[in-house]
Amino acid sequence: MKWTMAPEGMAEAAGKVITGLLESGREAYFVGGCIRDELLGRPVHDIDLTTSALPEEVMAVFPRCVPTGLAHGTVTVLQDGFSFEVTTYRTESGYADHRRPEHVAFVSDVKEDLRRRDFTINAICCGLDGELVDPFLGAQDLDARLVRCVGSAEERFDEDALRMLRCVRFASVLDFAIAKNTWRGLLRQRDKLAHIAVERVRAETAKIVEGPHPVRGLGLLARSGLLARGKAPFPWTGEDLAAAAAMLAGIGELESARLRWALLLHALGQSAEAADKLLRAWTFPGAARSSTAAVLRVREAWDAALASAAPDAPGAAEHLRRRWIAAVLTFGAEAAEGWATLLAEPPAQRSHAGQAALHATSGAAPSIRYIPPATLRSWTAEMPVRTLAELAVSGKELAGLLGKAPGPWLGALLNKLLLAVAAGDCPNNQQVLLQEARRMDADER
Ligand code: ATP
Ligand code: MG
Repeated sequence: MKWTMAPEGMAEAAGKVITGLLESGREAYFVGGCIRDELLGRPVHDIDLTTSALPEEVMAVFPRCVPTGLAHGTVTVLQDGFSFEVTTYRTESGYADHRRPEHVAFVSDVKEDLRRRDFTINAICCGLDGELVDPFLGAQDLDARLVRCVGSAEERFDEDALRMLRCVRFASVLDFAIAKNTWRGLLRQRDKLAHIAVERVRAETAKIVEGPHPVRGLGLLARSGLLARGKAPFPWTGEDLAAAAAMLAGIGELESARLRWALLLHALGQSAEAADKLLRAWTFPGAARSSTAAVLRVREAWDAALASAAPDAPGAAEHLRRRWIAAVLTFGAEAAEGWATLLAEPPAQRSHAGQAALHATSGAAPSIRYIPPATLRSWTAEMPVRTLAELAVSGKELAGLLGKAPGPWLGALLNKLLLAVAAGDCPNNQQVLLQEARRMDADER
């Protein structure tokens, strides 16, 4: 093992931990994801170790450690600025809730430890000498690009139903196929996903959607029918999801996770409100949820603007520019930029009726309804102000000028002024704005 994929110094530090354990008369190996990723030439983020030493023995050898999960045999050892999870060889049994084993037993044979692991590609370990211990032929499956359960897939998925989603996740992220028997076992056990916490399902699904091959993963999720069987709401059939995935060819190019989710929910035909509710039910953190939903809110504002513009009326383009600017002010420049990015992605346009209309050209002349994303962006870029804080008058000054007690009218007036400045109707100058406010107020009476 060359460890060219691990951060500088990490493998050497892990090697010292192994040496310490060997010197105390125990066995120890590099194990799991780090071997898989190093053999694949993918970045190695962390290195896990497996050992015949009991947790208390590990702690005795390495005073700088944290007893992370003693009951499961895991001690985190700190070495040269890195931290390593060192886990005692163990077997598991009695998975009463289809997730966690009820019994963990420490064992002396490393092969027994490898046997409890989920997939052959995750069940390889490697000694300091670079020799692989690979009783389930994981290296062969890495070469063949296959995700395969260790042992009987049906049993392994029954023990821990989360493994089914991990299976799809590894197939998606690594762009691997799933071995026939493993896939068959998954289909037989898929109802058991109902035992898995929503949070865990969300974390795995996020790795799929935000990973390098989201379309592959979404296709597998569609074919497996897994998500509809989870605890979280998933109001689509496999066919719906497959159809959406088929329209998302460009999703893997999007760097922003928020935009990937917005595009997926868009392709699934969700309103901003419905998307917000789903993301909440799927336990997304508040900031991710609201910024994703905001992109879809811009879509709705923009679709409504397009529907409201008579295509050939004079001033239609100016009307649309103002509506765009109003959307930027209401939902934020970031969300607006997000929607412009999705519009620039051909798959997003095809997947939504409103956007299909947007790009429909009538006869020879391109419709006014086709506003290229670059134009939307230039409209945003030309806005002199984007927030009330940048406006040259404050609410207090307006209330004073007009001699009225602050109330809802004040917010409405401020927003009118903001739109006027943002659209370039009047300069961001206090005197001009006060005068404009007086005129607007008079108009109201
Ligand atoms: P990544 O960290 O990229 O998600 P990983 O393979 O390191 O991949 P972890 O969840 O960190 O995954 O788990 C470390 C190792 O523990 C795995 O490689 C696998 O051997 C084992 N493992 C993890 N989860 C399970 C599970 N649910 N069932 C059986 N073995 C598992
Ligand atoms: Mg890991």
